[in-house]
Amino acid sequence: MTYEELKQRQNWTLEQKIDHAVVVVSSFMDKVNGNLYASVSGGKDSGVMFDIIRRFVNKDVPAVFCNTGNEYSEVVKFVRNTENLTVIRPNMNIRQIIEKYGFPLISKEQSRYINQAKHTKSQKLLNTRLYGGKKGIGKISERWKYLIQAPFDVSEKCCDFLKKKPFEKFHKQTGLYPVIGTMAGESRLRLQKWMKHGCNSLETNLIASYPLSIWTENDVWAYIRKFNLPYSPIYDMGIKRTGCVFCGFGCYLKNDRRFYFLKETKPKIYEYFMSLENNGVSYKEALRYCGIDFPDSMYRQLTLGF
Ligand code: SF4
Repeated sequence: MTYEELKQRQNWTLEQKIDHAVVVVSSFMDKVNGNLYASVSGGKDSGVMFDIIRRFVNKDVPAVFCNTGNEYSEVVKFVRNTENLTVIRPNMNIRQIIEKYGFPLISKEQSRYINQAKHTKSQKLLNTRLYGGKKGIGKISERWKYLIQAPFDVSEKCCDFLKKKPFEKFHKQTGLYPVIGTMAGESRLRLQKWMKHGCNSLETNLIASYPLSIWTENDVWAYIRKFNLPYSPIYDMGIKRTGCVFCGFGCYLKNDRRFYFLKETKPKIYEYFMSLENNGVSYKEALRYCGIDFPDSMYRQLTLGF
């Protein structure tokens, strides 16, 4: 698949995209002999994906939600109303993960690169992270290179322990394969995955279906309106994403208000996550070190006095 093909398909009508998603899931269902489940997060995207499966493909497909303990309570409450739902849990909690591996900051890709550059013993890998490999790929962005010297670690490992491993365990126990409601246009990693595997990945280590790959956020909202689908109340509170409330991936982007929302809506939970530590440095201090705009940033402290 190519980027141009994605762009072209993103221009399809909603009806074409629904038909396409139905074909993708149905073909995946054949490939895995009906052994599939819908991975739901309580968010609008996985909600739409699950609705497509139940409405147009098979209403008996089960849904699975991994309760990491770090989501908005409104999301957990909402997802618990899903029919035919299994709730799974991780073995480690976020305090242990952050203590051991580091904070989920900047982006999944960049935090992994920075962590590798800090800890690798391989000069080759270090060079790739500093200067880029073939075609300059795999490089830490200039903006974040100083984090190699930070007195704390950044890491994407939380995703492995809080999401990936519990779902792998579920697969081993049940033999079911996931259908996932992510979109290729959401991040570079997801785009690369789609360009490699398309909407159904049948590679041994990654057997999964992604029927919404070619969708956009507008399509998801259009589908919700078309079928009058219920969705988590957090979107009407102004929160744009589900997942862990404290997640720092993408928090450096302009006008990102996630930490403001968290402090305003759940002040105790905000303080709890801000107190988590890696290498003796709190999350609050790490966010300041990264120059992130959040309620306790240095700028606000110095200029506004709070
Ligand atoms: S949502 Fe963020 S913090 Fe939570 S597991 Fe995924 S990357 Fe880690």
